[in-house]
Amino acid sequence: MNIFKGILDAFFPPNFTCDICGIEIFNGDNLCEKCRDTVTVNNDMTCLVCGRKTPSSRLCLECKAQPPLYDRAVSPYVYSGGVQKLILKFKGGQGYLKDYFARAMYAKCGRFKDAEAVCFVPMTSAAEHNRGFNQSELLAAELAKMLKLPLLKDALTKVKNSSSQKSLTKKEREENLKSCFKAEGEAVNGKTLILVDDVLTTGATADAVTRELKKRGAKKVYLVTAASVEYEKDIKSM
Ligand SMILES: [Zn+2]
Ligand SMILES: [Zn+2]
Repeated sequence: MNIFKGILDAFFPPNFTCDICGIEIFNGDNLCEKCRDTVTVNNDMTCLVCGRKTPSSRLCLECKAQPPLYDRAVSPYVYSGGVQKLILKFKGGQGYLKDYFARAMYAKCGRFKDAEAVCFVPMTSAAEHNRGFNQSELLAAELAKMLKLPLLKDALTKVKNSSSQKSLTKKEREENLKSCFKAEGEAVNGKTLILVDDVLTTGATADAVTRELKKRGAKKVYLVTAASVEYEKDIKSM
């Protein structure tokens, strides 16, 4: 063993720089204090179904009006501030951040004791080739390891690209998404699954994947994402 390296390791904690802003830190944490203040965690004030931050711990108006197809969703962080930057960094190639997110996601999975396997939202093979990896698969693989559950690598495929959806209405987007995903019946039939994605925004993708999983016989689908957008509409109704 290199003695100098040993001495350095003893002097300095494993992280030398903040994962968000990159400044040097010596607190043994992966974030500096300033950046940590921009991280919002999802605590008790989240919707009981979609897991998004709400003004109270009851159903958000969206879940009340039209419940999602997945059975329940959880996410450790609100998609804003430093977390948004971290996720962009992660998707941009900083794969080591999967540990940071997967640990937090694992802490949210306590209620899903009946889950039997983990799967993830797939990318088209062209998109995955361009990026070099699927960020949701990286998270799912870590999470499956921690939960000691099998990772269903080929249970889902994305057969059509949905990225040019921005100009479509909500209804058109849903219709378009419906035909994007294919599930392997043999792998998912009769199973209670954890579905992993990086971020929950409108939930349209999660619903499209869940629809396909349930069509192929999946019993329950729990959605676990690293972050979710805050649900703010409730504020106006209070
Ligand atoms: Zn920082
Ligand atoms: Zn909700």
